[in-house]
Amino acid sequence: MSDFELPDRVNPYQLADKLSRLEGVIGAKRLKRLEEATAGIDESAQVSLGFDRDESGRRLISGHVTAIVNLQCQRCLQVYGSKLEGDFTLALVYNDEMAKALPAHLDALLLLPDALLDVADIVEEELLLSLPMHAMHPEGECRIETQFGTDEPTGSTGKAPNPFDVLKVLK
Ligand SMILES: [Zn+2]
Repeated sequence: MSDFELPDRVNPYQLADKLSRLEGVIGAKRLKRLEEATAGIDESAQVSLGFDRDESGRRLISGHVTAIVNLQCQRCLQVYGSKLEGDFTLALVYNDEMAKALPAHLDALLLLPDALLDVADIVEEELLLSLPMHAMHPEGECRIETQFGTDEPTGSTGKAPNPFDVLKVLK
């Protein structure tokens, strides 16, 4: 993907009519809310936005965004790097009727025709939505887990003790 820093604002209606695609990055300094919601942004957001019209003539923005952020593990309280990833499809609407008429798989983005769209804003929104509810190290990488978890066998070999084993001993 390119390192092109995406513009602050674009006209999404025009871009959709021209079936355009925007690919590039959004630097951490443009993602203040994400920065505050995490322990910091490690790598700029990589963004791919497609502007399109569907068979009903709706203008759509289909996006794929990724970013690497630092999160604090809720179990061991250490900070770790985590990749955020999100996909979305937004339909541009400029009144309530248009929004209500949208099929369920489309989210409405209310914007007057020829109004400008804040690119970082929709990217940041998607990244915020992709944040885990409870930040936690991936399986096997947490300090707490290794302290308490490694002695116990996992998976099919880890059988619960059979209460009848005790009876065998008593016989
Ligand atoms: Zn942890």
